[in-house]
Order: sequence, then structure tokens, then C-alpha cells
Amino acid sequence: MNSKNSSGIAQNGNSMNSSRNSQNSNSSSVLPIDLVRQELVEHARKNDTLIVMGETGSGKSTKLPQFLQDARLFDGMVACTQPRRLAAISLAARVAKERCCELGNEVGYAVRFDDKTSSQTRIKYMTDGMLLREAQTDPALTRYGCIILDEAHERTVNTDILFGIVKMAQERRALKSGEKRLKIAVMSATMDVDHFEKYFRCKVVYITGRTFPIQVRYSTEDVDDYLGSSISTILSLHQSVPMDEHFLVFLTGQEEIETCITVIKESLQNRGIARKMEVLPLYASLSQQYQEKVFKSYKKDIRRVIISTNIAETSLTIPGIRHVIDSGRVKQKQFVANTGMQLLKVCSCSRAQVWQRAGRAGRESAGNVYRLFSKAQFDKMSLATVPEILRSPLSTVCLQLLNAGIKKIEQFPFIDPPPASSLKKAIDELSILKLVQQGAQGIELTELGKKAARFPLEPRLSKALLISATLKCSEEVITIAAMLSTENVFISPANKKEEARAAHQKFHTADGDLITMLNAYKAYRKANGDRNWAHQNFMSPRHLTSVTDVRKQLREIFMSLKLNLCTDSSKTTAAVRESFARGMFMNVAELKPDGRYQEFGQNLNVKLHPSSVLFGAKPPFVLFNELVETNNIYIRDVTVIEPEWVLKEGESWFKTKRLTA
Ligand code: ADP
Repeated sequence: MNSKNSSGIAQNGNSMNSSRNSQNSNSSSVLPIDLVRQELVEHARKNDTLIVMGETGSGKSTKLPQFLQDARLFDGMVACTQPRRLAAISLAARVAKERCCELGNEVGYAVRFDDKTSSQTRIKYMTDGMLLREAQTDPALTRYGCIILDEAHERTVNTDILFGIVKMAQERRALKSGEKRLKIAVMSATMDVDHFEKYFRCKVVYITGRTFPIQVRYSTEDVDDYLGSSISTILSLHQSVPMDEHFLVFLTGQEEIETCITVIKESLQNRGIARKMEVLPLYASLSQQYQEKVFKSYKKDIRRVIISTNIAETSLTIPGIRHVIDSGRVKQKQFVANTGMQLLKVCSCSRAQVWQRAGRAGRESAGNVYRLFSKAQFDKMSLATVPEILRSPLSTVCLQLLNAGIKKIEQFPFIDPPPASSLKKAIDELSILKLVQQGAQGIELTELGKKAARFPLEPRLSKALLISATLKCSEEVITIAAMLSTENVFISPANKKEEARAAHQKFHTADGDLITMLNAYKAYRKANGDRNWAHQNFMSPRHLTSVTDVRKQLREIFMSLKLNLCTDSSKTTAAVRESFARGMFMNVAELKPDGRYQEFGQNLNVKLHPSSVLFGAKPPFVLFNELVETNNIYIRDVTVIEPEWVLKEGESWFKTKRLTA
């Protein structure tokens, strides 16, 4: 039995150490969950809801859906939701293999724009977002007999909304006679059990024992330079451990990962280290094709090192990983409610996160974890991650809830309700954007709002897309929206900064960053998406492929909404810039006599980000995509606009601000 500490967080991993007994050595055939199969099935037979706690690797994600489906406790499919698409895909592939069926038949998956299910599918892995989308048209989730909410501790916005939606679906079905009841299972290795028990009003089943022991080592002192420390740990382990033991390294973001890879490759070359190493990046915006490389079989006598963001933190079994190197940091979205500013900041992980990371090491055999932080730093870490819903702008959340038919948002059963004032602010924003209006029974989506809700983007950006259909420049705006939704395609290696700058210069325009992005993507398409061309121009072929994927997805939504898909035939970029200005009019800044800019939303003094092509120029009015706070507050992805454009859509909002045209 696992222990609960005084705060209620069950820490399955807190006794991970070298003395930990391996429960069985051939656990590929018997997993800890197999030993409680009967108990779990009985529990699920008698109760509509259950919580399952078990260490990482105990078999929850791969086995519980099979146990429940095979016990025939319900009609319909079992869905198992995952916060990340890679996890959904790889779990489905694994379970299909275990059941000797072709992926897409009995076992399938559904992630955004990739549905591998059929009428035969009984076990379906899917992202939270996909189930949310299904709930929009079928709030009782009638296709499913059972919904398993996996990785409940992650508390993404989508998971939190799903908790409420699934609970409401269960209640709705229980009330209707003749309707099949819905079973719910909630799973995690590290979660605040008391909180979940209270919310779901159900009991917890614990799976004890882990498959393989994990030895945890801490740094002897506090580490600030975790990137440098990761690199030296990788290089020294590379010299000392057998070549068939592979490494998984947790860093915070794409740039850091790419830097780490460059430095490692250079060091190996400089030191003439004969032992071979294959270093692979792993982060969310990598295209699926690149992400899946980490699961491909590795070559003998070549060390594989995977450098990842927290995307690999949960649910993944990456073959051959024996050593986890954990920076203890994560890049996390933070939302400052009183300024409305959204920040992406590197912060310390929670203890729940570092235990999840550790769990990646002992999936196939005994493993090691090297924590690049001291035990004292670990003790200071928060127990669990603050739910994303409490650190996000709520306008997207509210749009989704309204689209799911929830009219009284303030009465929605949030597991941790956001402050009422933040919800009100979000609804106000949607109303200013004319995406919602006051209806007879509460707030409702306007026709424009219904369309905007179909795009997986922030409402302001969705509105820009909708406007581009009327200004006849949707192809261009879709391209830019896709570029804003993926990682930066421009690469600037530390040792080739000047060359990169010169290469990027030819895409630059005095119209600003958004049009520069458009020029770059157009040139890439003209070169037929050639990888060599991308390399020569210091652009990332991987990220350009992702842009193409997202673009395709956005175009498909456009077509399904019967919106005008057309290319701007004018010689200027005015229509494109006007579309963004009219959708994102709340992101405008005006030049002040002292050379600084003042943005309108909160009257903040801001500066153009040094990465902007407009850095050094002083256009009177600009639109920005992002506010970034470091030692100053910067505006990023900046575009030159005309004030009358923003007034067309946002006149009433500007009346409350300072702009006079
Ligand atoms: P949990 O959800 O409890 O973390 P999983 O059900 O994901 O555990 O995995 C249980 C075990 O099954 C893992 O420890 C690993 O040994 C094995 N396994 C899971 N997925 C794969 C895979 N794709 N390839 C190889 N082994 C896997």
C-alpha cells in the first residue's frame, strides 16, 4: 500500500532508491496491475467511478482499458484520455500489438486531425481535446461505456474541463431511464488523492509494487546552470556506462534542447570521443514523424540520448532508457490576471513532476535518475503543479465551455474553480470580440463565436482568421497563424549568428514580423519544401514541416465552415495586416515621444523585442502577438498597422482606452 503524506499527495515514488525491491524480473509478462485485476474489475462492477493510483510503469495506461473492456461491464467503447497526442498514439500502438490486432481495428486512437478508429474499435486512446470536441455534439458521450481519465495529476485546462464534462455526462445518463450508465476511472501515479476523492465522491484502488528499482542521485549543491550541468552529466555518463543503456534528459524548451545538442556534438568531435552517440530532440512542436524517431529501434554500439521537454514526462515508454537526467525545471505558461499578461517562464518543477520523470527510467529494467538539483532544492519544490486553468487566460476556456453547451459557466463543476472575476473578464473579452452575446438563457455564442470555437487557437487569432475570409487574404493569414502556433522556424546557431542574420535578411520587410514570417514560408514553398534550401537559409525543416501540418489543419476547418479560401491578389500586405489588426485589436501599442511604446490593454510601457525586424525602427502604431517579461516588458511578433483598422472592430473598447484616431 502506498502512503499518503499529510497534504494528501500520494507519492508512489518517494521511496525510490537502490534498496527498492524489484517485484519481478520478467515484468514484461506480469505487471503490478495484473495482481489486482480481479479487485479492479469487481470495484468497477460495483461502482460507477473509481480512482486508480499506481506507480509509473505499473500497467495502468496499457492494461486498465483492456481489463475493463474484457470484463464486459458496459456497452460501448472504453476511451482512455491522454494530455498529449504522442502518448495517445504510442499507447494505442502498444496495446494493439499486445492484442495482436491491427491498429485502428479493435484498438485505435484519435488525436487532432488523425483518427485511427473504425466501427470495430472497442478501446480508444485519445487526447483530452478530442473528447472535449466530441462532447460539443454529444454531451452525454453516448458512444462510450467507460471513460478513463489518465494522468489526472497533469491538470491541463482540457483535463480540468473534461473532469466536469464527464461528471455531468455521468449524472445526465444516470437520470435518464433506459440510458446506459457511464463508468469513469481516474488514474495517476502522483496526485492529490483527497481532492479527487472528494470531487468524484468515490474510493481509490492502489496498485502496489513497481516493476524495477530506480536509484535516485541528487546534486550535492544547488545548481543554477542546469543546461551546463546536463551537458557534463551526459558526457561523463557516456564514458562510464555500457553503450546499450540510453539516456533521457529533461530540459525546458526547443532552443535549450537545440543548444544542448549542438554543444554535445561539438564536444564529442573536439574530444575525439570514439564512442558513438545519436542525440534526438523531443518536444511538442516537432512534427509527428520526427517525434516518433525516439521509438524506432536503436543501433547496437551507438548510445541514444533523447533530449526532451516535459512531453516525455508521462505515459511514454521509450525503448532502452536506463538513465534519466532531470534538470528539475519546466517551461510553464503563467498568466498574470491583473495585467492580462501571459508569460512563458522557466520554473522549478513540482515534486509530482520529478517523480513522473524518474519513472521513465525503470520501465524496462532497473534505472538511474540524476537530479541536477540538491535534496534541499527538492524539498522546496511544491508538491503538485498549479492547475493550468488557474494560470491561463480564460477566454479560450469559456469559448470551449459555451461551445459545449454550458451556458452558466459560473455554475460549471470545476475541480478548482477560477476566481469569478477572472471568468467575468474572459466573458467580457469574448463579448468585445463579438463572439458571445447575452441571450434569453444566459451568455450564448454568436454565429461568429460558433465559427471561432472550431479553431484550436486563441479567440483573438481565430477572429483574425475569420476576418481574413472577408478581406480575401485567408491563405496568407492561415500561414501566419500556423507560424504563430508552432516553434520559431528561424534558426540562429550561437557560432553562426551573422550568417544566419544575413540569410534571414532577405525575408525582412518594414511591414514587420508577421509579414517576414509569411515571406519566409512562401520562399520555402517556392523551393518545394526542400530541406537543403531550409538549411542553407537557416530555417528549421522540422518546424517548417509542422507549419505545413498546422496550415493544412486550419485550411480543413476553413473548408468545413465554407469560408472563403483565397490568396491576396493585391500588391500590398495591407489586407493581411488589417485582418490581424481587426482580430487582435486588444494587442496594440502606440509610440510615445520618449521612444517607448505604450500598450492599450493595461497601459504598460513596453519595448520592441530585439528579435523583431522592426527593432530600431519607430512605427507609430504596432500590433503584437505576445508580451514577454524579462528585465523589461517586451512586445514580440510585431506588425505595423493603421489605427483606423483597429477602430473598425474595437471602437467601443478603445473608447474606454486612450486611442483617438
Ligand atoms: P503506467 O500507465 O502505469 O505508467 P504503462 O501501462 O504505460 O504503465 O506501462 C506498463 C509497462 O508496459 C511499462 O513499464 C513497460 O514495461 C511496458 N510498456 C508500455 N508501453 C510500452 C512500449 N511502447 N514498448 C515497450 N514496453 C512498453
